[in-house]
Amino acid sequence: MSKRDYYEILGVPKNAGDQQIKSAYRKLALEHHPDRNQGNAGAEERFKEAAEAYAILSDGDKRAKYDRFGHAGVSSQAGAGFDPSTFAGFEDIFGGIFGDFFGGGRRGGPERGSDLRFDLEITFEESARGVETAIDIPRLESCETCSGSGAAPGSTPTTCPQCQGRGQQRFQQGFFTVARTCSRCHGSGRIISKPCVTCKGEGRTTKERTLTVKIPAGISDGQRLRISGEGEGGSQNGPSGDLYVFIEVAPHAFFRREGNNLACEIPLNFPTLALGGNIDVPTLDGHDAFKVPEGTQSGTVFRLRGKGMPDVSGRGRGDLFFTVQAVTPKKLSKEQRAALEVLAKALPKEKFEPRARNAEEDEKNIFEKVKDIFG
Ligand SMILES: [Zn+2]
Ligand SMILES: [Zn+2]
Repeated sequence: MSKRDYYEILGVPKNAGDQQIKSAYRKLALEHHPDRNQGNAGAEERFKEAAEAYAILSDGDKRAKYDRFGHAGVSSQAGAGFDPSTFAGFEDIFGGIFGDFFGGGRRGGPERGSDLRFDLEITFEESARGVETAIDIPRLESCETCSGSGAAPGSTPTTCPQCQGRGQQRFQQGFFTVARTCSRCHGSGRIISKPCVTCKGEGRTTKERTLTVKIPAGISDGQRLRISGEGEGGSQNGPSGDLYVFIEVAPHAFFRREGNNLACEIPLNFPTLALGGNIDVPTLDGHDAFKVPEGTQSGTVFRLRGKGMPDVSGRGRGDLFFTVQAVTPKKLSKEQRAALEVLAKALPKEKFEPRARNAEEDEKNIFEKVKDIFG
């Protein structure tokens, strides 16, 4: 099921300020609070949904990630279903009347491990051809000594007698039933009398793992790869989280990428443009021969079909657009000067008629110009 947009849930615009987000959330939370809507599953869903949206949008860092990457950017909060820690901001809004209503911490039992993020920089060529690379990930993994139980070999954890393994205790507090993290087992639901020495009873230890990551050809800057199950190990042998590899592509000295197309500039001497001629156009794979037609203007854009970037999902390749630019020699030899003087005399005198600059034309980028030409 696809998740709803957090701004939509709270009914606020994307540029809403902190105060607007807070009051939108307060209104929704009071309206849909489970204690006011006994047995209404829809209300409880909306209540949780609003709490989750608020937890992300009220945190500047998480909000920025969400704005950039959507739900996946904050998926360590969202991936494992509803996370009770999203109620962390509850008290400062409601002045503590709800207490830690949903426990505010762990509920006992196995939990899914966190998702991890790894930033990987690759070269432009690697992004064009695809690359297989090894990355080192330090992460929490299930402890090998105690097989994740946290108890020393030969002993087993026992169910917490204070919460009967639930990890939380319920109290009646006036109008509300309040759940608190169990003080005896701190939410794990278990008591470990003889902790494992390797992991000190945590059940997980930090390990550095080398993983081989296959980057598909055509990947672009800012894209991410999800590697299922390679995040942190879960607690009490719960499932592992996922690893997200965020790709950063270093810019190329010569080519620029726009979608799956490439663009570059080719400097040419004026006679080549005027007379036409064969030139070598650099491509990702080497060079391509190209015939410049007679009378070509400086700034003309040409296209080499299928010489752009490969599509990351395997749907062919983009095109290469190159702009020819006339270069003016800075130093002239005697012969060159003489030849140019002859040419200058033979050409008609330039007539320049000023006309107003067209701001719109100026703003068109190269690809728009190309679209005009090639349709
Ligand atoms: Zn251990
Ligand atoms: Zn307990």
